[in-house]
Amino acid sequence: MEAAFQTNNGLTRMSQIQIPFNKPYIAGKELYYVAKAVTKGYLEGDGFYTQACCSLLEEKFEIPKVLMTPSCTASLEMAAILCELEEGDEVIMPSYTFVSTASAFVREGAKPVFVDIRPDTLNIDENLIEAAITDRTKAICVVHYAGVACEMDKIVEIARKHDLVLIEDAAQGVNSFYKGRALGSIGDLGCYSFHETKNFICGEGGALCINNPRFQERAEIIRDKGTNRQKFFRGQVDKYSWVDVGSSYVPSELCSAFLYGQLELLEEITEKRSELHHSYLELLKPHIESGWLTAPTVPEHCQSNYHMFYGLLDSNQSRDNLLDFFKARRVGAVFHYIPLHQSDMGRSLVGRQTLPVTEQAASRLIRLPFFFELTEENQQAVSQNLTEFFDFQMDAASNWSAKAA
Ligand SMILES: *Cc1c(COP(=O)(O)O)cnc(C)c1O
Repeated sequence: MEAAFQTNNGLTRMSQIQIPFNKPYIAGKELYYVAKAVTKGYLEGDGFYTQACCSLLEEKFEIPKVLMTPSCTASLEMAAILCELEEGDEVIMPSYTFVSTASAFVREGAKPVFVDIRPDTLNIDENLIEAAITDRTKAICVVHYAGVACEMDKIVEIARKHDLVLIEDAAQGVNSFYKGRALGSIGDLGCYSFHETKNFICGEGGALCINNPRFQERAEIIRDKGTNRQKFFRGQVDKYSWVDVGSSYVPSELCSAFLYGQLELLEEITEKRSELHHSYLELLKPHIESGWLTAPTVPEHCQSNYHMFYGLLDSNQSRDNLLDFFKARRVGAVFHYIPLHQSDMGRSLVGRQTLPVTEQAASRLIRLPFFFELTEENQQAVSQNLTEFFDFQMDAASNWSAKAA
């Protein structure tokens, strides 16, 4: 397969360009703040920069309480503990998501109930949620795929009606909005990620947004090893002790210092990603118009943070061929995800299940290189490669029909 793709002339030059799928970046004062964190002489959790990140997110996104965490996974685990789940309780979520969305609840003894997605945004299909509710359902965990919001009005209404905790896995949705409201600020709880592959990064990092005040006090305790140390710091108790379950969910001050350097440039970074996104759309227009590639949908009432650029091919075969093609050209394109209901763990939890839209999307989707420092040349090279690939496919198709005739 690779040899066939490399016979075209002029490609030796092209194949020497290496474009990674993702690349960590520095946008401003990240390293200066890391140094300052050390010289301030306070590196344990909840120092100056951790507080600064927390306040910035609370103000910017109008969230009553934000707790910085070591990862979105940690935030989801805290959310799951806060749901007070019992063995056999059920949590509704999409299957088309990252492992942590489900594993956080499974650790608490709950069973994931996977619901299919919408074919346009690849977000959970709000019209399928109610049918999945049983008397064991305790929570709904939605995922805002690619930084584009789920249909939150409808989902909030369902959660209220059935008295369910609503959690937003907004790992990909930091600085995205739904009808003017920040993702992560709409459900009872919201979870952010600052992992290297997300929009704003510090290597590994996250935050738990607490929009429903009834979770505040316990969340603080769970985050601090199950102790009431935060109350002690505020002078509300004269010594702190072990009062509940918990873990070490406070992030390193070094990571927060780095992250603060990015969060203070939230708008600039998003603007850059928007430009990159639109320039891909422009470059790939011929392929989108001819129907070879379906571009992401952003509904009118959703404001995206341009977390990723993906496309849908016409079949699983074309997608896999394209992945091989890019690999041979050293372009870092990847697929997304192995649906959780088709994973070993998912199968062992829910048995065999068919989710047609999820399975279609997962088999046909490709994510193109997308990161802050992606250059115009990089994007042109990706686009050029796509043109060659589609020409190659078209030739193969016409050769085949010529032979068949
Ligand atoms: C990245 C991601 C996570 C995990 O985030 P970490 O910060 O790496 O733990 C969870 N859910 C979704 C949807 C993600 O994209």
